[in-house]
Amino acid sequence: MRYECLFLFALFSSPALAFVHISQLKPRLPVSPENPTVTFLWNGDAPNLTEKEEVLDGSFANSSDQDLMAALLTLAMNTWTNVPTSYIILNQQQDASAQVDENDETFSIVVEAQDSQAVAAAALPSFITNDPDPTALERDPHVIHDCDISVSNSSVSAKSLLRTLVHELGHCLGLGHPHSSYRSIMSYSSLDDSASLALDDKAGVSFLYPEPGESEDVRYLTTCGVVGGQGSTAAGLCFGLPLFLLGLRRCFRKKA
Ligand SMILES: [Zn+2]
Repeated sequence: MRYECLFLFALFSSPALAFVHISQLKPRLPVSPENPTVTFLWNGDAPNLTEKEEVLDGSFANSSDQDLMAALLTLAMNTWTNVPTSYIILNQQQDASAQVDENDETFSIVVEAQDSQAVAAAALPSFITNDPDPTALERDPHVIHDCDISVSNSSVSAKSLLRTLVHELGHCLGLGHPHSSYRSIMSYSSLDDSASLALDDKAGVSFLYPEPGESEDVRYLTTCGVVGGQGSTAAGLCFGLPLFLLGLRRCFRKKA
């Protein structure tokens, strides 16, 4: 069965509530269908990773922390890239000069010591600038001109880190914390510890970066994104129904 068809049927089995933006400004990354790629620079460091056998089918069970970290970053980015109704592409590149700097318009992932032991990672999306001499991107508050992710160098299980990376990347995409969906990877509290996206997450990234050709369908979503996590069944239907129709069309068109 095609992925699109599975996606379609998932709509019936997974209740959809809502996704939320990181701000009422609904900022998004500076990409377009013609230039869909955002490259994150990773500083090459890794925390002490435990339980390595629990991810990637155990193929990195005996690998170094750095090698597994690179694989987890790729997997986390592909999780968002592979949403069929969204065009955005995330990838990573190792660069020892990567640093947390909200004004360099560079997307960085930096593994470093944190002030608090309780912090596993934090994403820092910047869309309002305090730069006295702003660039064109910085001048537009609807554009996330910079987003760095600071990852703790404390010991962590590989599975937990993978989920954290997917969550933090979601913030860089422009998604906030939905308080009404416990299945969303963007939720503070989740019903499971998997690193896969829930329907709400897919709806969010599809709203922000709709795949060309599907954009007329996804446009229905424009009235449905909410800020502040006030999800409801009505809101779920609001973006669930267009996605259902979109999925139905993809399902039958690709079969033909
Ligand atoms: Zn968060």
